[in-house]
Amino acid sequence: MREGKPTPEAVPMEETADPITAALNELHASLASDSSGTLASYIPQLAEVDPGQFGLALATLDGRRYQAGDAAVPFTLQSVSKPFVYALALADLGLEEVLSRVGAEPSGEAFNAISLEPGSGRPSNPMVNAGAILTTSLVRGDGPAARFERIRELLSAFAGRPLDMDEKVFASELETGDRNRALAYLMRNAGSLRCDVDEAIDVYFRQCALLATAADVAVMAATLANGGINPCTKATVVSQSIAEHVLAVMASCGMYDYAGEWLLRVGLPAKSGVSGGLVAVSPGQFGIGLFSPPLDARGNSVRAVAASRVLAERFQLHLMHHPGRSAPVIAHAGSAVTTRSGRLRRRKERDVLHAHGGDIDLRSLQGDIEFAAAEVILQSLSAVPAARPGSARWLVLDVQGISRLHPVAARMLDAAVLELGTRGIVVVVGDGHRRGLLPHATVELPSPEEALEWCEDALLDRHGALLAPAAELPLRDHDVLAALDDEARAVLSAAVSPYTYQREERVLASDDEVLLLILSGRLAAYTQGATARRLGSMGPGTAVTRLQPLDDGRAQPMLVAELPGEGGLLRRAQLERLEREHPRVLARLWRLLASSREVGCWPVAAPAWGSRR
Ligand code: GLU
Repeated sequence: MREGKPTPEAVPMEETADPITAALNELHASLASDSSGTLASYIPQLAEVDPGQFGLALATLDGRRYQAGDAAVPFTLQSVSKPFVYALALADLGLEEVLSRVGAEPSGEAFNAISLEPGSGRPSNPMVNAGAILTTSLVRGDGPAARFERIRELLSAFAGRPLDMDEKVFASELETGDRNRALAYLMRNAGSLRCDVDEAIDVYFRQCALLATAADVAVMAATLANGGINPCTKATVVSQSIAEHVLAVMASCGMYDYAGEWLLRVGLPAKSGVSGGLVAVSPGQFGIGLFSPPLDARGNSVRAVAASRVLAERFQLHLMHHPGRSAPVIAHAGSAVTTRSGRLRRRKERDVLHAHGGDIDLRSLQGDIEFAAAEVILQSLSAVPAARPGSARWLVLDVQGISRLHPVAARMLDAAVLELGTRGIVVVVGDGHRRGLLPHATVELPSPEEALEWCEDALLDRHGALLAPAAELPLRDHDVLAALDDEARAVLSAAVSPYTYQREERVLASDDEVLLLILSGRLAAYTQGATARRLGSMGPGTAVTRLQPLDDGRAQPMLVAELPGEGGLLRRAQLERLEREHPRVLARLWRLLASSREVGCWPVAAPAWGSRR
């Protein structure tokens, strides 16, 4: 430590916990004084622990951990190991094979009950001892030592750190675990357990004696909550479907003969163990690890159950809880009559869009789209009218606001897109990041704005109103000149000089260049900076000016040629001459440019669709 720097002890500091840690601390304080329950004693070592120990931990799917009390104290996992070993058996053999050997029905009986299917000897589920002993025997491995090593490795991967075994607890259970041995003999006799009893029991007792802390258990739970990916190490520990299957069995069978009431009151997949541990999972949200040795009459930790009940209620974690409606999945529905792209249009084009823009429908989708949300979208798309025979209609799907599209929803939307095609509707998807999202879309463009521009162009083309970018407009036909009187037209025509731009060239970059009348090609305006955003574009017949710099401290938008073309440029020197010699012409010109109804001039005041983000 550097000289002069106070040691942490020397600085009296009021510790301010974050709200989650504060909630866990509060919970710890409110339950610590409850000393009811008894220590498990049939494994003698377990009766020797301090009954006052109480740890709580929560791990998020981003790998953050919150904890209170004795969350760093190791304890033997005991039955908390069962769901994780079940995951390994599922990975080794697959669901069908495992199910044929171990059921998935809650037994409603104590953890060590003899609940075997009459005849086959198949245990009722993998969370009671009989089922767990059999599950452990299914794990692949060359001999018991190799099987245990695979179990230790998998549980360590769940926890995100290597887990050790408590030799004393293992030896203690080996000595006294006759009831489990008896269960194994019964299963062996019935033909359900197909390996040596001592081998099966040895591996099972070892797995029960693996040591972990409440904080470790929270990460193990978070791994299940996260679809099998450990949120701290990012390792894929098991597949998503295995995580789902394990959670399902935990939900129905995890809490011994309290499983039904647990699901009713707490509503979370969970598993408890006789050492006082409890693992609980809020799928898609986080994992919880709890530890407190005194047990209730059913073998569940008194404080851990009480804490889970409070947490589930306070954070509204019950699996059956209705989360309430989220933001509407269709953020915007409309047509090109009222919603325009960021393309600056000449008067004639605007008139056509106003008259026929109803042929272009728009839907902006947002949020997390699963089955129900997709159904809402399908309903909305079915309202898009079919194209008239020999004619066309367009639909712009803005998918940029979608945060997550579930595979089932993606298939539903793509089927709807296919159906729209059969009704003559051209579906244009705008999103540069997720190409191929809807394989049956007719056209994909990098952004919703460009998708709408594309449709507008197609509509204008159909009505003969589109000035093709390559077809050069004569200067006198440019909207600005056409709207001036003869004198002003003659003066302005003489003042502008020919100007050519190549693709990707910057246009009007210098202060000397004041006004450009676009005659062919296309320009686009971008914000400056690292994340340049396309603000809109301008085509033939429109104008761009640097006369009104948006000088509000932000970087000026930059103009880039998207398609090569030509124009008429008014330079500052010519402007100054006009100011001296033709002030009336200039006044007429400025009035005209300021009127967005008459001509299309950029910058324009009216916000376009593309500028809403
Ligand atoms: N090793 C213990 C047994 O098999 C685990 C039981 C439990 O935690 O429920 O008896």
